Amino acid sequence: ATPTAVMVGTGVGATQGVLIKGGKALESAHKVNCIVFDKTGTLTVGKPVVVATKLFKNMSLQDFYQFVAAAEVNSEHPIGKAIVEHAKKTAEYNEQNHPLPEASHFVSVSGHGVRAIVKNKEIMVGNKKLMLDHNIGISVDAVEMLAEAENRAQTGILVSLDGEIAGVLAVSDPLKPDAKQIISILNSMKIRSIMVTGDNWGTANSIARQAGIETVIAEAQPEAKAIKVKDLQSSGYTVAMVGDGINDSPALVAADVGMAIGAGTDIAIEAADIVLMKSNLEDIIIAIDLAKKTFSRIG
Ligand code: ADP
Ligand code: MG
Repeated sequence: ATPTAVMVGTGVGATQGVLIKGGKALESAHKVNCIVFDKTGTLTVGKPVVVATKLFKNMSLQDFYQFVAAAEVNSEHPIGKAIVEHAKKTAEYNEQNHPLPEASHFVSVSGHGVRAIVKNKEIMVGNKKLMLDHNIGISVDAVEMLAEAENRAQTGILVSLDGEIAGVLAVSDPLKPDAKQIISILNSMKIRSIMVTGDNWGTANSIARQAGIETVIAEAQPEAKAIKVKDLQSSGYTVAMVGDGINDSPALVAADVGMAIGAGTDIAIEAADIVLMKSNLEDIIIAIDLAKKTFSRIG
């Protein structure tokens, strides 16, 4: 393509809310035959909500949520924020008349959850790994509740108090309404779709099934996402990565084309070659189509 064609291409992209950071991105985009999708916030809406709670201890829901919210109030993770929102209603706390108990020794364990001391009890909120790493036994009841949540494409979150499981929460973050259709269009364009996520295998598989994605990698640390991209490149694919989170940035950089969701974190947007300003999955296809038009016009 001539420099003029590339300029026209990036200009057309800009008018449609597809920000292309240079001709190289457009050139790589026209050859893409595999797309790696992040799950949370990319294929899913990214605004999780607590939809169920099960208690395993003799305590009120209100007391339980006081502990949980006190531990999560310092978390930056969307799941942490969802739990605090839910707790506000359940524990009926508010900053003025009914404040949360103080939490000390707060630790955010990346990809696993949080820990803190609240009212002299050690509390942990997070996934199975967090509990297993701290030698906390998970009862059959709790395992069942986790499995049920995962089958419904929800994420099960465990809560421990002083080393014993006190409750399980189910958090729902549904698929974006057009995700399935976009994956099917990509299929018809002979572009393979793969999903990578830090979430557990059960939930990841359920979401992938709903989206029509066959290849899934779950419980992936940020570096594992980038390694997957590089593996696909070694097998001959030209790879686009689509993501929104800090933990997607190594993969966005590694990919032939990194595409960031506009509503995502600044770090992801900086790491990407193309920014989908409207945060629509449809704009992935618009970007690739534009690249194809630009690079087939003159060659
Ligand atoms: P992703 O954003 O791709 O779902 P993360 O690596 O951020 O993955 O988190 C992986 C898992 O760790 C989450 O699905 C959740 O089970 C657990 N987790 C992370 N942060 C928190 C938190 N603040 N509270 C509870 N669980 C959490
Ligand atoms: Mg994400």
